[in-house]
Amino acid sequence: MSKDAPAADEVASGAPPLSGSGADLWNVTGTVERPSQQIPVIADVDVLVAGGGVGGIIAAVAAARYGARTLVVETHSSLGGNMGPAMFVGGTLHLALHNPEAFPNGLGGIPGEFNRRVVDGEARNVGSDYFRDHHSVSYTALKMLTEAGADVLLSSVVSGVIMEGRRAAGVFVENKSGTLALRSKVIIDCTGTADVAARAGAPVTEMPSNPSAGTFFAIANADWDAYQRALADRGDLSPDDQAWMQAQVCPVSDGFMPWARTACELDGFKIVQTVDDFATLEATLMLSRGEPPLVYARTRVNGNYNPGDGLAMSRIAQHERTYIPEFAAFLRRHVPGFERAQLHVVAPLTCARGGKSIESVYVVTHDDVARSARFHDVVCIYYDDKQYYPGGCDLPYRMLLPQGVDGLLAAGKSAVRRGPQIRQRHTVQLMGQAAGVAAALAVKHGVQPRDVDVAELQRILHALDPELERRGV
Ligand SMILES: Cc1cc2nc3c(=O)[nH]c(=O)nc-3n(C[C@H](O)[C@H](O)[C@H](O)COP(=O)(O)OP(=O)(O)OC[C@H]3O[C@@H](n4cnc5c(N)ncnc54)[C@H](O)[C@@H]3O)c2cc1C
Repeated sequence: MSKDAPAADEVASGAPPLSGSGADLWNVTGTVERPSQQIPVIADVDVLVAGGGVGGIIAAVAAARYGARTLVVETHSSLGGNMGPAMFVGGTLHLALHNPEAFPNGLGGIPGEFNRRVVDGEARNVGSDYFRDHHSVSYTALKMLTEAGADVLLSSVVSGVIMEGRRAAGVFVENKSGTLALRSKVIIDCTGTADVAARAGAPVTEMPSNPSAGTFFAIANADWDAYQRALADRGDLSPDDQAWMQAQVCPVSDGFMPWARTACELDGFKIVQTVDDFATLEATLMLSRGEPPLVYARTRVNGNYNPGDGLAMSRIAQHERTYIPEFAAFLRRHVPGFERAQLHVVAPLTCARGGKSIESVYVVTHDDVARSARFHDVVCIYYDDKQYYPGGCDLPYRMLLPQGVDGLLAAGKSAVRRGPQIRQRHTVQLMGQAAGVAAALAVKHGVQPRDVDVAELQRILHALDPELERRGV
């Protein structure tokens, strides 16, 4: 990984354990019954993809290319999720591709095509231009979906599931038009937090610990070299400064000292803050070597909450949106090299590594990854980007199947129980590809996703990416 790329998908937490969650901040004062309503059905499709992150984008392109009438529903007004409006993208689109064993001929199939188009044919494997690439993700996604004949419904939240017995037969969405219904034969849950599965009554798992959320932003007009020189000239921190750092709510980055202390004493600005009593908020910096050079920054929100808790996420967002401009002002006022710096752009979407996931028919474990597990129903291979297990670990089709509900598949983060870092971008896309083809096959043969002929699915995946066959997928 290049030096300036962010630490790969690590669980970063210097935060002490905190109690509470956003839900505690709001009193439930009673319940009301929602009147029943006749909801207009505005579409009847073969495959409905809920969520337009990279998992959903690739799933929808795959389903549409394999003959299914496909519709993607996305909450935001642009596609890409973590790699789109959340702006966490850059050269890490290719993370793990630097593992020489993983993809000697590059990422293949629809994910390979998508990634090549996103980086505009550049030969770099790992580089970083976070601020350019996120636009390119949304643009490329829309182009590829349109070319494949898939439809897209933006600015619309999937708010419920139309159930027919145990089969998920479509979704309700909320947007400016009110509540609308969309019927479908197969739904692929790519919401990143298994929202559809949860609302359909399928068992889901909450991530047990730190979800590691944050918001990305960029600082322009900074003199990074001057900042580095100031850090080098600073010498060791005084014992007094070190004691001050230790006394903060969680460890203060060494790179902000002693300026963070001065800012606290002069302006009352706290470099590490708490979000009520359940999370801590801080920021980190690194240089993005794009053109123009920008300093790439992100908040880290650590603590006891889960990204499926809408109330907690609202509290976090409120704190972040005041913290980020004040942090930028702190840099400008106190930190050498940032005297002319300006807050350039802030991602509109807070992203998180964690969240709910389906209880898959088969849950891939750390052990499976460590023993490079092989499964008869393998649909792609997972390569860890930090530790190279020979041959990688098979991801089985059963991982995409939720328990208890028919008409439903999941891909991407929604299908990954935290443990192994399977949510990495290239893997999420490979899962999306498998789910999209499987959904199209289920529709074509009039069967439930759980009854798809895996041998036929694997044959199609091989045709899409001959490298898969060579590797025994
Ligand atoms: C801070 C951070 C660092 C990371 N670092 C790395 C890294 O270094 N390398 C790496 O490979 N991976 C990394 N990842 C992981 C990777 O970015 C994600 O796992 C991946 O992008 C997830 O893709 P996804 O499509 O499954 O979900 P998401 O990107 O979360 O997309 C889900 C989409 O669904 C939409 N949605 C959600 N709910 C609804 C709803 N109810 N109705 C309609 N739409 C909905 C969302 O708006 C979003 O667009 C990181 C992630 C984070 C958060």
